[in-house]
Amino acid sequence: MPESAPTLSARWPAIAKPHGASTVVPNLVDYERTRAEFSWAQARADLDGLPNGRGLNIAHEAVDRHAAGDRRNRVALGWLSKDGTRRDFTYADLCDETSRFANVLKSLGVGKGDPVAVLAGRIPELYIAALGTLKNGSVFTPLFSAFGPEPIQSRINIARATVLVTTDALYRKKIEALRGSLPSLQHVLLVGETPSIQKLSGVRHLRSLMADADQHFTIPPTDPEDAALLHFTSGTTGKPKGALHVHEAVVAHHATARFALDFHPDDVFWCTADPGWVTGTSYGIIAPLTHGLTSIVDEADFDAGRWYSILQAERITVWYTAPTAIRMLMKAGAAAARQHAFPSLRFLASVGEPLNPEAVAWGVEAFDKPFHDNWWQTETGGIMIANFAAMEIRPGSMGRPLPGIDVAIVRHVGEDAIEVVEAPDTEGELALRPGWPSMFRGYLSDEERYRKCFVGGYYLTGDLAKRDRDGYYWFIGRADDVIKSSGHLIGPFEVESVLLEHPAVAEAGVIGKPDPVALEVVKAFVALKLGYEPNETLKRELLGFARVRLGAAVAPKEIDFRPSIPKNRAGKIMRRLLKARELGLPEGDISTLEAS
Ligand code: AMP
Repeated sequence: MPESAPTLSARWPAIAKPHGASTVVPNLVDYERTRAEFSWAQARADLDGLPNGRGLNIAHEAVDRHAAGDRRNRVALGWLSKDGTRRDFTYADLCDETSRFANVLKSLGVGKGDPVAVLAGRIPELYIAALGTLKNGSVFTPLFSAFGPEPIQSRINIARATVLVTTDALYRKKIEALRGSLPSLQHVLLVGETPSIQKLSGVRHLRSLMADADQHFTIPPTDPEDAALLHFTSGTTGKPKGALHVHEAVVAHHATARFALDFHPDDVFWCTADPGWVTGTSYGIIAPLTHGLTSIVDEADFDAGRWYSILQAERITVWYTAPTAIRMLMKAGAAAARQHAFPSLRFLASVGEPLNPEAVAWGVEAFDKPFHDNWWQTETGGIMIANFAAMEIRPGSMGRPLPGIDVAIVRHVGEDAIEVVEAPDTEGELALRPGWPSMFRGYLSDEERYRKCFVGGYYLTGDLAKRDRDGYYWFIGRADDVIKSSGHLIGPFEVESVLLEHPAVAEAGVIGKPDPVALEVVKAFVALKLGYEPNETLKRELLGFARVRLGAAVAPKEIDFRPSIPKNRAGKIMRRLLKARELGLPEGDISTLEAS
């Protein structure tokens, strides 16, 4: 397929050239030469560092250095509320607000390395809390606001978060009943001002704390290896994994945005990802600010008309979004896009799931520009593989490795050994040579799981892929049973565990069922305990039960009853078999299937 796949530039000749009136020269023009000349030490030199050699702090690079320079009065964050109001924060504003937040933490005795969890939608306080936390040397731990109590509880407890920043509504809906089972939590800082919540112990109102706090804060010395960000991700088994990143990650956030998102100093950037997921932090908060850009944040959920209006009215120049959203826009039709004009739009990028070739091409139809797919994951902290602005796009391919990133396709040869697959167009596991700055430094409290990621000098990504003759990488699928739904990674085990807590459920197996828009939807197969009858009422009850506990982002959308769930002789659920049966595919090797 890679060799014969037509390139976009062949189908749309204008693709290989700068678009429209744009005279902007891409940052990466000569791929081979840039790769050969690139070093992470040099990338580090593009950043400032704390004054007087006191180290490297993400918030200094993102905010304070611009607030002290000629970008002081530039809009850093342009926030669009759900109800249509707008708030702009200049770099100077953001510096003051984040300093106040850091002082609030300090006054509460929250210090270096202490995890500060934030459970909120895309509201300004989330961004202020994230950067203020980093200023204070504490660890920013975002929690997706569409999580239910169960995923929130497990994540706060794994993180041992001492502080939670959230809204009154989310507190009432998801936290209040959990308080007794969150032992590490000392302070809850509420964004709203509901008087009845005021009386609860440990609950404070952020606004009044901020009003009393000083707007000056000196960032303490920060070692580049100090913990900064804790992002949760999912595996096939066990609890969610807390991937820890350090302040040095900012070197990669900055450099990768320059290459893969083609940031230029006057860009107005819109990353549609929620900071509850890694893209929304690395590129939704940090990278646009380290570059001194204006970053647009929309509080509202997806809406095709609204998105087109934002692209037009905010004069977005660089837009970073996700395949599910693009597929939803495609459903609304290119004509809807064509009712708007996007003269400022220069570069379109996508991440999080495979981007269909049709979607790349549809970008041209709707915006006169293709989408540039890129690949990375929570553990890598930043973009690793990308289709670059100056290079031909191969629709369906993730692109080529970034400067400073060495990628290989490997094959497992025995328990703890791999060999590198040199032959092009050969499937294997996508592997990366460790050493880039935003690489995770561990899974919190799970050294064993971390160690298992490294074999033969490579970090194994868990993705299957192949490389074509020209060095473009093509995604094939996950090597494990993790589910990707609307761009979010979901661990089947987390869903099965909650279903098993329902009194009617004896066994549960969870798979990702292919979906034309969301890529996959979570589907559960359930075997009932004796005395329970499979029927529609019970199905609805189980769906509701899971939704309340897990939240809309994680809960199954479909449930089927089965007399038993296939397991191997070691008792492990054979999700692959469930999936094959669901899709009517060959069942593969079932020699280990336990007789049931
Ligand atoms: P997360 O850690 O939640 O960001 O999810 C990372 C996973 O999403 C990767 O390991 C891939 O399985 C998938 N993914 C991310 N970007 C792409 C892409 N461009 N194409 C295909 N899969 C992707």
